[in-house]
Amino acid sequence: MKRLICLFLICILLSGCGANTQKTLYHMNTVMHLQLWGKDCETAAARCDVILRDLESLWSVTDANSSLSAINRGQDVKLDGPYQALLNQVEALSQRTGGAFNPKLYALSNAWGFYNEEFRVPTAEEITEALSQEQWDLGAALKGYAGYRLTLELDKLKVDRAMLNLGGNIQTYGEKADGSPWKIGIQNPDGGDYLGIISVTGTMAVVTSGDYQRYFEVDGVRYHHILDPETGFPADSGLRSVTVICDDGLTADAFSTALFVMGLEDGTRFWRASDDFEAVFITNDGKIHATEGVNLSGCDYEVIFR
Ligand code: ADP
Ligand code: MG
Repeated sequence: MKRLICLFLICILLSGCGANTQKTLYHMNTVMHLQLWGKDCETAAARCDVILRDLESLWSVTDANSSLSAINRGQDVKLDGPYQALLNQVEALSQRTGGAFNPKLYALSNAWGFYNEEFRVPTAEEITEALSQEQWDLGAALKGYAGYRLTLELDKLKVDRAMLNLGGNIQTYGEKADGSPWKIGIQNPDGGDYLGIISVTGTMAVVTSGDYQRYFEVDGVRYHHILDPETGFPADSGLRSVTVICDDGLTADAFSTALFVMGLEDGTRFWRASDDFEAVFITNDGKIHATEGVNLSGCDYEVIFR
């Protein structure tokens, strides 16, 4: 929680002050901070609150009454067109990543205790069993989708611009008044000051997955919440964090998780075969690598060329 609040402060500082409306919310198990500029931002912020609550009640895997929980129980749930489309899109993204982003790891996350916070290292049998269950969990994608969904609403309500921090998933909307880029700090995985600043213009998602966001330790070993679907263990790919910059929030969220699982080498290969996102990798030795389309400042880093 302390880290999240720290990240909010960074974003607030970097985005410039003077938003017409600022709102702090709690949805999807995380603190969210919305900054909006334009006419009637109060109404827009209230709408965002409702949309986030609705998304949560449909897709939260920890809410037994959600549609996703019903699907996981094998019930025949009739989803509205856009919601079925979301699941289809999530499956397509999973395929694109070769399964590194796997939206059906609910039983596995549970086996590690990440949902009830009764953390434990499961046995090999428990891991095999959990992997075979293929239960939906949109934890790696929902906040990103929510960012995209909120931009549609801001468009509709004619909000001038916004900076949405959905638990570390940043979604910018519109151009800043002075034409300068939005500035987003990359969190230091060890805490403290941010490591560098990513600049983006217009409506863009900047999403980070890291080993420091949720974890527990046993005998000095850190077990974090991003799981490798091949081993069933926390991904051990030599990375501390991956930030993805993409004009679609859902894609940014799914890929930040996938690239974390893939590691620097495979992640670079995946980026070279794609043309719809940029990425910043922080390796275990603290080095920063950024793909050539990232506008990064305030730190030393190695550029990954096409
Ligand atoms: P966060 O949501 O903490 O910002 P991520 O977007 O990387 O970070 O999502 C991690 C969450 O996604 C986990 O808490 C778990 O619910 C789920 N998850 C874990 N491993 C994977 C994976 N390989 N693919 C898809 N979802 C995953
Ligand atoms: Mg993600």
